[in-house]
Amino acid sequence: MAFDLIVAECFGVDQPTFQGEGPSTGVPALFIRLSRCNLTCGWCDTKYTWDWKRFDPRKESRRRTVVDLLAWALGSDVELVVITGGEPLIQQKKLLPLVAGLLAAGKRVEFETNGTIVPDPALLVDGVRFNVSPKLANSGVDEDKRIVPAALEAFVASGRAVFKFVTRSVPELDEIALLVGRYGLDPVYVMPEGTTVEGLIETTRVLADAVAARGWHFTQRLHVLAFAEARGR
Ligand code: SF4
Repeated sequence: MAFDLIVAECFGVDQPTFQGEGPSTGVPALFIRLSRCNLTCGWCDTKYTWDWKRFDPRKESRRRTVVDLLAWALGSDVELVVITGGEPLIQQKKLLPLVAGLLAAGKRVEFETNGTIVPDPALLVDGVRFNVSPKLANSGVDEDKRIVPAALEAFVASGRAVFKFVTRSVPELDEIALLVGRYGLDPVYVMPEGTTVEGLIETTRVLADAVAARGWHFTQRLHVLAFAEARGR
């Protein structure tokens, strides 16, 4: 039981899919979504990983062994495995043997993390990348919870992180710029907030010129455009 992980869902084997966000957008990917989060973002689109007022943890999560998860992932030829959440680094000690096994089998691993937990040095190895998504005031979470300097500094120092911000308005780019300047975050990706095609397109048109003017990257949410945010895609 020592290496059981609390998992919300795994997908990408039976029904192939892509990484939907960030630098690997469009790359075929498997997803291991861990349950639980240490933040409570108002616009979170995976509240079934942590909001136990709305969801039942007994229905929305189950324990799976590393052996079981490895067998699932290695049953596919897809190279990229995205470990997401919730906040996956809550369980990072138990993730070490899973990541080691995936890398040994020739997979690449990307973590989707909110950047509030200092990564274990054993995860800072070739084949692992962190898509770090620090949350802005628009999340509704207090700044001292959502911005953890030691964690951001560790991700910057690792050289294995990109920094992705979810936003819906041009003025929020100033808030991003403050964090980018304060912590030396690079490279920066800006992603429109939205769970509908119409909303994403509208926000993209609002943001695109201003993001380009700052020399930052822009990323879409391909899974929303392609699969209408269906769970397990
Ligand atoms: Fe949701 Fe991510 Fe915020 Fe956690 S950090 S509440 S998973 S958006």
